[in-house]
Amino acid sequence: MKKVLSFDVDQTLNVAKTPIPDEIADLLIACLRAGLKVCPISGQKFDQFMIQIVDRLVERGAKPEDLEKLHLFVAQGTQYYRYDVKKEDWEQVYSYPLTDEQVEKITNAIETAAKELGFWEEDKLQEGDEIIENRLSQVTFSALGQKAGTEAKYAWDPDCKKREQIVKRAKELAPEFDYEIGGTTSINAITPGMNKVFGMTHLMEELKVEKEDILYFGDMTQPGGNDYPVVQMGVDTITVRNHEDTGYALRGVLGVINAL
Ligand SMILES: [Mg+2]
Repeated sequence: MKKVLSFDVDQTLNVAKTPIPDEIADLLIACLRAGLKVCPISGQKFDQFMIQIVDRLVERGAKPEDLEKLHLFVAQGTQYYRYDVKKEDWEQVYSYPLTDEQVEKITNAIETAAKELGFWEEDKLQEGDEIIENRLSQVTFSALGQKAGTEAKYAWDPDCKKREQIVKRAKELAPEFDYEIGGTTSINAITPGMNKVFGMTHLMEELKVEKEDILYFGDMTQPGGNDYPVVQMGVDTITVRNHEDTGYALRGVLGVINAL
């Protein structure tokens, strides 16, 4: 029996970069109440975890004792937050940030690559938005910025071909980093090993569970995708196309638990 359900966020629990729908929030609460630990792991920042997941769970009735079983693996698990019931607040357990020099090198490599290839879409940005964002443990390229509409994002690179070219060139310019394709317009740059394997390894350590105790859900499980490292590690994985697929799978998991 699995003890931990771990989830990619973008396209696995939500429509990329939007709050999780009611159905997913209700199913996650049901999983928490069934005694499972729920561990989202994504390249996004802590405030996005709050907006997209935690606030939604609270709106759908999650109580502090539910949140206590929720573990947030932020920035691919290079930062970990858990809920402190006494303080009624989230506490950061650990963080492994990049150095300023690393951030600068990555930023230059991706910007140069995107510009050379004609994929630097600065003119399409909304006010105050940015293409490259320092997320402390990783640097993230979002072709159309953070605030672009979902439709525009889906249309930008549906077959990942633009991002594959940017990754290839950035890797030539700054080979000491790893570049992963995620979400709909994103590339995450990290130091080697600071991918979901890092997050998963720390998850097992912090939660005192084994690989066999975890069931992982992700939409980018193909080689080069940001969920692939988890597959390679040998964690049992369910590949989903979208949050609807995740919903079906969770209903199955809960059905089995209720039948036992
Ligand atoms: Mg995803």
